[in-house]
Amino acid sequence: MRLHRPALGSITLSALVAAWLLFGPNLSFWSRGLEYFGRYPLTLAAFAAGLYLLFFAALTTLSVKYLTKPLFIALILIAAAASFYMDTFGILVDRQMIQNVMLTTPAEARHLITPDYVLHMILFGLLPAGLVALVRVRHRDFGAKVLRNAGMVLPALALALGIVALNYQSFAGTFRAHRDLMGSLNPAAPIASAVHYAARRLQERDIVAAPLGLDARQSDRIAHSARPVVTVLVVGETARAQNFGLNGYSRDTTPELRERQVANFTDVSSCGTSTAVSVPCMFSVYPRKAYSEAKALASENLVDILTHSGQDVRWYDNDTGSMQVADRIPYEFLPAGNDTASCSGGECHDDILVKRLDKALDAVKGNSVIVLHQLGSHGPAYFERYPPEFERFRPACHSQEFSDCTRDEIVNAYDNTILYTDHVLSQMIDHLAARTDLATNLFYLSDHGESLGENGLYLHGAPYFLAPETQTHVPMIAWFSPGYGDLVSLDRACVADLSDAELSQDNVFHTMLGMSEVSTAVYEPGLDIFAPCRNAQVAEAHRGVVR
Ligand SMILES: [Zn+2]
Repeated sequence: MRLHRPALGSITLSALVAAWLLFGPNLSFWSRGLEYFGRYPLTLAAFAAGLYLLFFAALTTLSVKYLTKPLFIALILIAAAASFYMDTFGILVDRQMIQNVMLTTPAEARHLITPDYVLHMILFGLLPAGLVALVRVRHRDFGAKVLRNAGMVLPALALALGIVALNYQSFAGTFRAHRDLMGSLNPAAPIASAVHYAARRLQERDIVAAPLGLDARQSDRIAHSARPVVTVLVVGETARAQNFGLNGYSRDTTPELRERQVANFTDVSSCGTSTAVSVPCMFSVYPRKAYSEAKALASENLVDILTHSGQDVRWYDNDTGSMQVADRIPYEFLPAGNDTASCSGGECHDDILVKRLDKALDAVKGNSVIVLHQLGSHGPAYFERYPPEFERFRPACHSQEFSDCTRDEIVNAYDNTILYTDHVLSQMIDHLAARTDLATNLFYLSDHGESLGENGLYLHGAPYFLAPETQTHVPMIAWFSPGYGDLVSLDRACVADLSDAELSQDNVFHTMLGMSEVSTAVYEPGLDIFAPCRNAQVAEAHRGVVR
């Protein structure tokens, strides 16, 4: 028995698929369009018509024999996948987001493939793609086809151009004011972003990190300290300042840190809204405004300079990797181990970092810097970030599917992750404090924040210019052992006075150099948060080097 397969001309198929792509998987795009053009329905209609003509012209041009079906099916599937994340989390699939996807670990990706996603892919992907697969496409002979296609494409382009010309001012004004509009058009935006990303990777492929800070050396009093100086930098994940108890959140999500006399900083902004931007940025010598991935890759970074200063620098990762920051120093990816008490399904609770820190402290021989990269509050499966005894805010969302939960349940689960981070950091501090044979200190800050449903937005990764403060305002704390405080004559009142200072991840590079009193030509005391609080003699020495 033969299935009767309907036959369509390639131009008809192009017209139909263009209509589906523009109006099917573009809910986010059209709701923005309605919002931005809503008061001018004629402009919106012209905008839709112009876009349709462009889609039609592009597909017709590409409807070459043997290419038509695989290409149309791929476009449909890409648009379907991208539209799910746009509609569900309010995100844009920009170059950064493509990079986040490429750097995602399989364990993380598992959380994104949910029943809702599968259903969405069937309705918006497999069904229309199946229809395209089913039809027989009639192609003309090559010569006739070129003529016929040109006869459709050229008038379509001319018409589109006419529409743009007539509406140029309102289109241009709207695009400028709402850069997210075209950024949410499927499948054009994700494809453009992927191309942009690939081009970037190609450019960066051969970049070699140039040496930086080879002149680095520690101050005499630190270099010759009887007790090894151990600086611990905890890089947090997705903790936002608004939900951090020490910052005055209505819920006490940081009861343990509160008891430990940590210095808390309330006004700290991140470099990016994703791990892939913020982490390399905060370790780079460049401030946020001058930072680019290519520039960061072309230069050694903070951990390299700390190594040049003669310290033992190590990176222990419980997140998704160091984003190439730790390429030249000892690095351990903890989820790859076999600690079944802390880990399951390729992911570990952050207490694994406390255990690893203990081992590292036992092995300390001289001045050391230990970087601990947390899994922290990584969503959407917040409930998997903490052990059951930390589920203090209830009911907490226990689904990776936000649509299964109320907003309160999602916030409860998120707040429990902060509560657990509070515990993990406090444990680290206690273990450091117990090592009176060492002069220890700890510096913690998050990489970026998180949206928890404000304005319908979830997760993070919004383009910086659009990002709400919830994604860019991060918690930061510091703790100094008495032994370290004595060594550098730390003025604790001076540190406390800085708690509301306007700070950012631009300060991390110089503050970390300052904490272990590393002087080098690239050190800028003005960006070292604690420089004014260590005794003057050393600050003077630093200035001498800078000049
Ligand atoms: Zn992150």
